Amino acid sequence: MTRSPQHDILFTPLKIGPKTAKNRFYQVPHCNGGGYRDPSAVVEMRRTKAEGGWGVIFTEQTEIHPSSEITPFIEQHLWDDRDIPALARMAEAMKSHGALAGIQLAYSGINGPNLYSREVPLAVSGGPILTFTSDPVQARTMDREDIRDLRRWFRNAFRRSHEAGFDLICLYGAHGFGILQHFLSRATNHRTDEYGGNLENRGRFLREVVEDARETTKGELAVSLRMSLNEAGPFGFSNAELRDFIEMHGDLPDIWDLAHGTWENCSGTSRFKPEAAQEELVQGIKALTSKPVVGVGRFTSPDAMVRQIKSGILDFIGAARPSIADPFLPQKVEQGRYDDIRECIGCNICVSGDMTGAISRCTQNTAFMEEWRKGWHPERPRTKGHSQSVLVIGAGPAGLEAALQAGRRGYAVTLAEARQELGGRVARERLLPGLSAWGRVADYRTGQMAPMPNVEIYRDSPMETLDILGMGVEHILLATGSHWRRDAVARLHLHDIPTDPAMPIYSPDDLMAGKLPEGLRVTLYDDDHFYMGSVLAELLVAKGNRVDFVTPAVKVAEWTDNTLEQATIMRRLLDLGVEIHLNKAPETIGKDEVTLGCTWSGRQSILPAEAVVMVTSRRPEDRLYQELRGMDLANAGVKSLKLIGDAAAPGPIAWATYAGRRWAEELDQDPLGDALTFRREIADLLPEHRLTPT
Ligand code: ADP
Ligand code: SF4
Repeated sequence: MTRSPQHDILFTPLKIGPKTAKNRFYQVPHCNGGGYRDPSAVVEMRRTKAEGGWGVIFTEQTEIHPSSEITPFIEQHLWDDRDIPALARMAEAMKSHGALAGIQLAYSGINGPNLYSREVPLAVSGGPILTFTSDPVQARTMDREDIRDLRRWFRNAFRRSHEAGFDLICLYGAHGFGILQHFLSRATNHRTDEYGGNLENRGRFLREVVEDARETTKGELAVSLRMSLNEAGPFGFSNAELRDFIEMHGDLPDIWDLAHGTWENCSGTSRFKPEAAQEELVQGIKALTSKPVVGVGRFTSPDAMVRQIKSGILDFIGAARPSIADPFLPQKVEQGRYDDIRECIGCNICVSGDMTGAISRCTQNTAFMEEWRKGWHPERPRTKGHSQSVLVIGAGPAGLEAALQAGRRGYAVTLAEARQELGGRVARERLLPGLSAWGRVADYRTGQMAPMPNVEIYRDSPMETLDILGMGVEHILLATGSHWRRDAVARLHLHDIPTDPAMPIYSPDDLMAGKLPEGLRVTLYDDDHFYMGSVLAELLVAKGNRVDFVTPAVKVAEWTDNTLEQATIMRRLLDLGVEIHLNKAPETIGKDEVTLGCTWSGRQSILPAEAVVMVTSRRPEDRLYQELRGMDLANAGVKSLKLIGDAAAPGPIAWATYAGRRWAEELDQDPLGDALTFRREIADLLPEHRLTPT
């Protein structure tokens, strides 16, 4: 395989101040839900990106001082010298294959509630802390002494970053999260001193801090400014103001790193944002500065990357999610292995790991954040064990990943799927409004397995116990999926509710199979709270239905706060004219109406309806597994039988791919018994030292 010469430009080195990046693949800072709590897990995750060929690799947000921290979100700390060793290991890992190592330094100001450090938050202008969680905390306005302190804290962080071995410092002023943006923006800067008022004044702190960075690091480290491309609202730091600022201070940093206004905008899901969505906001900025420009856009297509560079929009292709989904993206482009690229599907499950304080996972790259914890690698398979043959039943995300990984390890794999099409749930969900990228989960895996001589795939092959036992395989995996319930049972109703059989009731599976309500007015009950309810509401509206969206939650699709989609979903439903009924749930379903109960007061109301769609919960499809369990498998030469994915416990697609990977990884491994299945680090205890009140 050879690379198209068209793509050569992506591999031309470029200077960033005193440093030179080996290519144009720039992994912008991104969180991972592990941060300071899981230092070695993060180090190995970044090392994998170095191995995969990235030219520049950054840490996640690194908090420079305890007077500004964003607990419960877990990022990095650089609070004192004791934080240096973990970050030094990170820098060493990033540089292990010739990448430049970058650290993103953040002071969160109005964005940091300090729930852990208990310090009074300091902000450019005081006021309630602006976070996702509406903490009942206000920040104090910084006076001149505080600003001097803050400059000193930044200088300390520069010194420590230098000592830790980083090549680049990124000053965080984007997404509403960093104090540099708070200074620049009239929304958050109400000051009347020399740090407030006109743009020159609002940019003063930025200029001072960049000067401090150069002085402290003796000009040896490159400085990047990560700036918001367009902060919304009448007082926000707009795209026009950003352009004015860059025109005034084009040479201030060594590189401009441009990211959309809010994190929600910058990291939009594929449902709402296409690849290269920020192009319009970035276009023309390069002409305002002699320094290189990096921008993001969920870039996975080398052609799209090349176009950005050749048309003078960007110098570096910034990527967070595409680098998570495929840490080897640069190497694959370099080697012309285009079909091997594991494209990000834009689902933001990775983001949800950070939002929930859990360690992040990726739907596509099942090894993400397991590189150290479990020794998984995104590309290199574990060597094969002593058995030879495996049978995987069901080609949904779980079965496809299991078959692919077992195939890579060298087992003789038979994959049997009842339907003609492969992909299970993603084969159907990819046809729903906005979800076409979900199909990449199936496309990548089927594409990878196609040339593998040791993997045989049987379509249209619904398996039963006798077929299975007759195959003489050593390991049997059931990844037979689940189906949606057609009743109200989920979180609120743990038992079904009285329902008149005359009312037509539909499940998401019905709608996905093209069985649509005949009547006009449809009640959609969502006690699932992820994407399916709102996606089906969109589908129904597109088919001409009038939709009443009923949910017991305080907002629609409430779990999508964790994928940064909730507000966009709400806007979309309102735009579509969907009638939203919050804090309500059906209590009884009549032949032409639904009786709703308020989840707080119990007050009832009547909703006329010609059909009801239940988006509630799913039943595992485990019949075959239960039947097999009752049989004498050992006698048939079977060494193991396992049930995974939605067939074991329905969950998001990422849970299923993970389960598939895990099964394949653990084939022929000695049972661990009660031992922990992953490595973790426990904080070192300091020597005991009691404080006695006097
Ligand atoms: P998961 O998300 O766990 O991968 P899916 O529901 O997406 O689950 O996929 C399960 C797949 O298993 C479906 O494509 C379904 O057609 C297939 N399947 C279920 N039962 C059988 C069976 N007995 N034989 C072969 N395939 C089956
Ligand atoms: Fe992309 Fe989803 Fe993986 Fe995040 S979790 S990197 S959005 S595929």
